[in-house]
Amino acid sequence: MVFLSQVTGPSWYARNPTGLNGLRANNCVMSNGSFLGKPVFYGRMKKMWVPPGLRPKRPSFQQLGREVSLLEVDGEDYLPCDVNMSGLYELPKTLEVVKYPDPRLRKENEEVDPCHPSVGEIARKMFQVMYADRGVGLAAPQVGINQRLMVYNPTGKPSSFLSQVVMVNPKIVDCSDKKVVDLEGCLSFPGIAGKVSRHEWVRVEAFKPGGKKIKLKLEGWQARIFQHEYDHLDGILFIDRMEPEERARAQFVLDQLVNNYKGNGIPQL
Ligand SMILES: [Zn+2]
Repeated sequence: MVFLSQVTGPSWYARNPTGLNGLRANNCVMSNGSFLGKPVFYGRMKKMWVPPGLRPKRPSFQQLGREVSLLEVDGEDYLPCDVNMSGLYELPKTLEVVKYPDPRLRKENEEVDPCHPSVGEIARKMFQVMYADRGVGLAAPQVGINQRLMVYNPTGKPSSFLSQVVMVNPKIVDCSDKKVVDLEGCLSFPGIAGKVSRHEWVRVEAFKPGGKKIKLKLEGWQARIFQHEYDHLDGILFIDRMEPEERARAQFVLDQLVNNYKGNGIPQL
């Protein structure tokens, strides 16, 4: 257990979670765990009731981003990737998009306990990474977490947060015979776009963070995003599904990505 005074760095929430002077600003529960033998601390704000007239405006995503700075403890730096997430207790401080040909994009992804309290927090951080890179979808292996978790927002706009979808352990239970071809890009493949054939619609079952089961029929753009991210959970990348001539067009940039790869693991093409 640590106290807020030990947490360094700016935090809109930490300094003043209610937006009001005079109310307790340190109403913050800190948890701790460990990563590679070092302590890792992360915080969770308690909800408190504030009279309607005194309620602050909904914090922006930038402000929510500052909330994550609770993870910065005494200025120490923790490596963000290569974390064994089994149990999901050991949260990386920051998430970064893993680029092709990083082997984590091809690794097997394990099922997640949707009721684990860290799932929601990881999903929120994945949204932040996704919006920062102007994406519409992100799968956990793309941030180095080899778990079956994905987030997407078909609008790509953080302001349209009601369109955000988080899926834990998603499964395709039915799909259309008809397929449609359209252009796709991927945050793990900067500079590459190509036409990919996808089912026109898919029926999906998944869990929300917290354990509620959801059943959805996805169509059109949303079905395409889902199938792209779902493929990531099976270690399948969109270049695998490109038509041969599309793939050939992308080969030059793919070679550049391979040449620029500076990760620790053995590249997996
Ligand atoms: Zn992708």
